[in-house]
Amino acid sequence: MKNSERIFAAANEVIPNGVSSPMRTFSLVGGSPIILESAKGSKIIDVDGREYTDFLSGFGAIYLGHSRTEISNAVSEQLDKGLVVGLSTEIEQQLAKKIVDSTSAIDKLRFVVSGSEAVMTALRIARAYTNRKLFLKFVGSYHGHADALLAQPEGNEGVATKGTTNGVAEHNVLLCEYNNSEQLREIFETHGDQIAAVIVEPFATNMGFVKPQQGFHQNIRQLCNDYGSLFIFDEVVTGFRFRFGGVSELLDVDPDLTTFGKIIGGGAPVGAYGGKEKFMKLVEIGNKVFQSGTFAGNPITMSAGNAALDIMAQPGFYEKMDAKGKLLESEIKTHFAKFDIPFHFTRFGALSGIAFRRSEADMKSYSDVKQQEYDVFKNTHLVMREKGYLMAPSLEEPIFLTDAHSEEDIKGFAKALAETIAEQLQ
Ligand code: PLP
Repeated sequence: MKNSERIFAAANEVIPNGVSSPMRTFSLVGGSPIILESAKGSKIIDVDGREYTDFLSGFGAIYLGHSRTEISNAVSEQLDKGLVVGLSTEIEQQLAKKIVDSTSAIDKLRFVVSGSEAVMTALRIARAYTNRKLFLKFVGSYHGHADALLAQPEGNEGVATKGTTNGVAEHNVLLCEYNNSEQLREIFETHGDQIAAVIVEPFATNMGFVKPQQGFHQNIRQLCNDYGSLFIFDEVVTGFRFRFGGVSELLDVDPDLTTFGKIIGGGAPVGAYGGKEKFMKLVEIGNKVFQSGTFAGNPITMSAGNAALDIMAQPGFYEKMDAKGKLLESEIKTHFAKFDIPFHFTRFGALSGIAFRRSEADMKSYSDVKQQEYDVFKNTHLVMREKGYLMAPSLEEPIFLTDAHSEEDIKGFAKALAETIAEQLQ
């Protein structure tokens, strides 16, 4: 028996499904779950000594490569000073300042420990500010596991709303198709005066990789203005991925509140929410919203986050990441053309996705995402694993490039992927 199988079986005795987060079972693609031993750069090594070039990258939390020296050093230095959990530190103020200074969308922000908590608090602020109870989210989007946001009649795989408070997901959330401005307008016409906030990802990164259509976000902004609702940009995945800061500037959108996570913690657990002063002051002592956290702003995360942002702030960093994305795109497109693979590749910067469906068109919404050929993806995933490449174990996750991916990693991955898909389609 392999070490990973032994450990997973033992984990099942004490942890539901043997995992602390559902995707780690790999149940959507088959194959035994990976039990990690170590990770460095673009490579991860499992407990059986198997090495993979990693394109899952901690579901997007790893952007500078695994165990990046500068980050590890910063964390070690902090450890020497002690784990001063529960009180404030200067590094917390420093990281907050870097984020606030990176964007005009944010006057102030607070740290929490996960993206889910950041979203949960942003929603609470919106509800308190507007004195309304409804939220609007887009079908197929994932914003963490806060009760309300699990509403998902057509649901992301495996997401369950049972157990959430008093049917909060069903009764407090309005669902609209991503990129459907017409449907959005109709929903606002009926419910606009009860909508506390619209929450949206700048790019939908939890249904593969879906880009916003021209004017989609501007339309949301306008409707929020017209009806007095708040516009929450969930940048847990996109934040600091395409530019130093959120992507709102690039898309020319001005959100009221923004949530961050993943990248800004340099690989350590993190979430943050921020926005305009008039909204953020609601969490001040004695005001309408309460948020706290024993580990909020913890020094491990703050030291890792500061080190990560210092690397990303260096001139040329985002141009370099864009070049990696472009290389992946040209390699995949060349190989796909060679093998006559009819699947469409979509990219922005270093983030990309493949639609496993026979169409030249970009996917626009979750109904397109559901039309993909899951069996082809499943087999591709398994064979790619055998070839030493790890992709996210779901069609609803993008391909996550990091600063550590070399030209060889990218070219090897694109070639192996095209060959593997071609075999499946024969
Ligand atoms: N928002 C988005 C867009 C996400 O992709 C995720 C997680 O993948 C979250 C929020 C929740 O973040 P976390 O897993 O840190 O709670």
